[in-house]
Amino acid sequence: MAKVPDTPENMSRCLCAGCPSFPGSGGFFCAKGKSDSEIRKRGCLCTDCANFREFSLVDGYYCAAGAAGEGAQ
Ligand code: SF4
Ligand code: SF4
Repeated sequence: MAKVPDTPENMSRCLCAGCPSFPGSGGFFCAKGKSDSEIRKRGCLCTDCANFREFSLVDGYYCAAGAAGEGAQ
């Protein structure tokens, strides 16, 4: 079960659009699941995100790994 509730409030906190690894579309990957695009890892902003702290996330790079609680943590 995903750790991050897929709510508009949580989505509004997402920093993915400003991330150097952002694949160009999508976002809120910790709840929505991974991107369809191949990710070139150039850093991840998740550790600066309020959702990361609130939901005790660990891994980051959800765009590549999939939603928190569904493979990634
Ligand atoms: S933890 Fe990462 S993927 Fe999840 S909302 Fe924050 S920036 Fe977006
Ligand atoms: S999940 Fe992390 S690496 Fe991927 S776009 Fe969001 S902030 Fe960047």
